[in-house]
Amino acid sequence: MHGTMHPIHRRTLTVLEVETLSPSMRRITLGGDGLEADFPFVPLAVSDHVKVVFPGSDGSLALPDPEKGMRLREPVDGHVPIIREYTIRGYNAELRGIVLDFVLHEHGVAGRWATNAAVGDALGILGPRGSRIFPTDPSTYLIAVDETAFPAAERFIEELPQNILLRIYAVAPERNRRPLGRQPRGEVEWVNSADDLVARVTQDLLAAPLPDDAVVWGAGEQGAMQQLRRALSDGSFLPKSRIDLHGYWRIGFSGEIPHE
Ligand SMILES: Cc1cc2nc3c(=O)[nH]c(=O)nc-3n(C[C@H](O)[C@H](O)[C@H](O)COP(=O)(O)OP(=O)(O)OC[C@H]3O[C@@H](n4cnc5c(N)ncnc54)[C@H](O)[C@@H]3O)c2cc1C
Repeated sequence: MHGTMHPIHRRTLTVLEVETLSPSMRRITLGGDGLEADFPFVPLAVSDHVKVVFPGSDGSLALPDPEKGMRLREPVDGHVPIIREYTIRGYNAELRGIVLDFVLHEHGVAGRWATNAAVGDALGILGPRGSRIFPTDPSTYLIAVDETAFPAAERFIEELPQNILLRIYAVAPERNRRPLGRQPRGEVEWVNSADDLVARVTQDLLAAPLPDDAVVWGAGEQGAMQQLRRALSDGSFLPKSRIDLHGYWRIGFSGEIPHE
């Protein structure tokens, strides 16, 4: 695994296009003068993300300026920035816009913003701070995601070389399921809940163990990822150094959760 750092730009972008992916997800393309042609969309940096700054209830956008040494939580003109992280799903060369996929829900600012977003709406974007490029030498990737990490899973599917075997586990109720990736590959094992995810992955690994060089990558609700990490470690399915799981949100917690 290797990485590159980027200067942290801040950008005010507008919605160029909104696409419905499923009843629970919308794909939103953002662009405008703030988006220069060399926005760092790095191949194989499939989990790269930006900090999205949302408008407050009065419509104001409190966009901190890291280049001026502003801290992200400091008020801007009296308004505390509302910041959440989103995966860079792609770069749309035709529209000249970055593509983010949002889970729709009524519990938080971001979920509600995405539910109502329309062409012309403004958002702030900070970053990406860096790119983490995934290796292409493992023979197998096991990917375990809920909907917040479908964008990363789709990038794995589209960007990893075809000779790499993918074993994909995805959590979503039946109504929100859809083919993952522009050209789906590997069997997607769909499950309804985090508990089902842990049970299914461990059961499958007992029946068909991973090769020594495999990597497990996963992201989703933090408690679910902790449960999965414990199950994989307890079962000694593969060395800890090959398990890469991330909490992307936490039940009952608002805002950016501390990175593990
Ligand atoms: C590196 C990284 C990349 C991410 N990429 C994406 C992405 O590409 N697409 C995406 O949709 N999300 C992504 N997320 C997750 C997203 O940042 C969180 O879901 C965020 O909390 C949403 O903010 P909110 O304002 O809607 O809710 P918050 O104000 O943070 O939370 C309010 C309430 O909503 C609940 N909640 C938060 N998220 C969800 C959810 N998804 N479903 C149901 N309830 C929820 C919380 O538990 C809390 O009770 C990513 C997170 C990280 C760390």
